Amino acid sequence: MELIGKIIEIVGDRSDTLWSISDISYSKFKEDFTRAIILAQHYNHFISNAEYDEKEYHDIILEIRMSIDQKINLLRNLFDQYGIKNFVPPVAQTDEIELVAPFSFKYAAVQSGLGWIGKNGVLITREFGPRVRLGAILVDFPLICGKPIKESLCGNCHACVDACSWGVIKGVNWNISSRREELLNYKLCNKKRSEYIKTNSRKHTCGYCILACPWGIKEPGKQ
Ligand code: SF4
Ligand code: SF4
Repeated sequence: MELIGKIIEIVGDRSDTLWSISDISYSKFKEDFTRAIILAQHYNHFISNAEYDEKEYHDIILEIRMSIDQKINLLRNLFDQYGIKNFVPPVAQTDEIELVAPFSFKYAAVQSGLGWIGKNGVLITREFGPRVRLGAILVDFPLICGKPIKESLCGNCHACVDACSWGVIKGVNWNISSRREELLNYKLCNKKRSEYIKTNSRKHTCGYCILACPWGIKEPGKQ
């Protein structure tokens, strides 16, 4: 199909950007849109907790955010050319009480089959672990969807639980019915992430619970 070919031209061959399509009939956008295209772009530098540096991590996040925004803009132009109604949902949380964004990129990524939610509450992909930045665009067009992932592949791993020195992560395996508060104390996590507003002008994942994850480096339990 010509449209899919053009999407692939923009997002690439999955060597650094995973992508898939989610049915969004579960979301509050369902009246206007039927699908979300979800992108998960790999951080193009590898850093581990052993070499963690807050400034370097912040720069990596900014660089990858710029790159994924460019791809989303190109997709938006493409859908405009085809006359397909589309919308780029905001990344940021708009509800500072419940700490939710209008459209959950993570949940759509799970629904599209890109990965599962780790014990640390972030998307874990088989290919790159949690070292990805997500982007999304909603469309009103019947693209073929990926197969949802319904269970965690974290198994007995405890690395992110141990890496968070504030005890935010409860160590519970996610499934598709899990609620966020069952996995982690997200309000305390938000408080810790908000401390970066002083230095980075925005909330920022500390990085420890992400860089500890063995997925994307090697499968847990395998050489
Ligand atoms: S972002 Fe920070 S506070 Fe939140 S779980 Fe990860 S290491 Fe802990
Ligand atoms: S560090 Fe281990 S428990 Fe945490 S998200 Fe990664 S695989 Fe899951």
